[in-house]
Amino acid sequence: MVIKFILYWIIQLTWGIVLTAIGGFITVMLIIFGYKPKVFGFSVYVEFGTNWGGLNLGGFFFVQNGASLSLKQHEYGHSFQNLWLGPLTPFLITIPSAVRYHYRRIKRKKGLRLKPYDSFWCEKWATDLGKKYYKS
Ligand SMILES: [Zn+2]
Repeated sequence: MVIKFILYWIIQLTWGIVLTAIGGFITVMLIIFGYKPKVFGFSVYVEFGTNWGGLNLGGFFFVQNGASLSLKQHEYGHSFQNLWLGPLTPFLITIPSAVRYHYRRIKRKKGLRLKPYDSFWCEKWATDLGKKYYKS
């Protein structure tokens, strides 16, 4: 467990540093503004705001207040994608997911039908990884 924790953070802080650095910066900013970071598995996360979902940035993630276990597992799952994909993660996962997130919000506002969230390959993958690596 300790070895895995150390390996997780060594990779997040080297191969995965692009997203982890941004996530760490945002976490520090939130701490300055009085938010309390929490631990989920090997990750550090902060809860804030309402009704917006979540965002993973390497070893850190951010979720709405009162986030469900499955949402936290999903964002945690994205952190493992950053272990495998490293500097490619923003281009393969984070940016496509963010674009899709906004596209879905617009569609929802227009009352159009949405495909299931996990119908997008990297979202289903993140959900599966989260369930695999975080057992409640
Ligand atoms: Zn996701």
